[in-house]
Amino acid sequence: MSEKKMSRNKTYNVLPGTRMGLLTTEYLEKLTEIAREHNIPFFKITSAQRLAIVGHTPETAEKIWQELGQKTGPKKPVGIHYIQACPGIKWCKYGRQDSLGLGEKLEKAFSALSLPAKTKVGISGCPLNCCESYVRDIGVFGKKNGWTLVFGGNGGGCPRIGDIVAENLSDEEVIKMVGKCLDYYRNNARPMERTARFMRRSRIDAFWDYIGVRGKSRY
Ligand code: SF4
Repeated sequence: MSEKKMSRNKTYNVLPGTRMGLLTTEYLEKLTEIAREHNIPFFKITSAQRLAIVGHTPETAEKIWQELGQKTGPKKPVGIHYIQACPGIKWCKYGRQDSLGLGEKLEKAFSALSLPAKTKVGISGCPLNCCESYVRDIGVFGKKNGWTLVFGGNGGGCPRIGDIVAENLSDEEVIKMVGKCLDYYRNNARPMERTARFMRRSRIDAFWDYIGVRGKSRY
């Protein structure tokens, strides 16, 4: 079999337990042990700040999931695809707000929610926006007086800068506003329609009426 054909037959699985890019030494040790046992050539850090094990067969994937304490990969409804968060005020000298703390709260509030299409979240602890919050379905970035919430961004094949929903928000206000944005999105979007396409197609005034604020577009 040619090398190209072989590589097509290989697979990878994204590991659980790497929420917002955080890894403990114990978890890294466990992964190293598993990688040595199964001759894994390397790990890949994904754009979603997750760690993928690559270069193995589907049968090995099954074993790896078992060794990690799961029978198969995570089965989730279509919804929050990932939450990306920067080190924020806890670990970065530029940080203005606690991005990792807000990420945990958003995960708790929305990770089980079923949505029309995958929805990416980027939380940056300051306006330097290392997590590219303007081009995420839900983007949040910190300033001295609170969070700025952005909705409907996309950095992929259909790029769009998201709309600013509100500014100077507390953690609780972000969660409340995100809930409203997602409610409107899930009740009005077509199946598999990402938020950026949805916002382009929507009557934006109707969106702001539902949210109860007048947001701003960056363009
Ligand atoms: S967005 Fe700001 S707080 Fe977060 S890593 Fe970048 S510079 Fe630091």
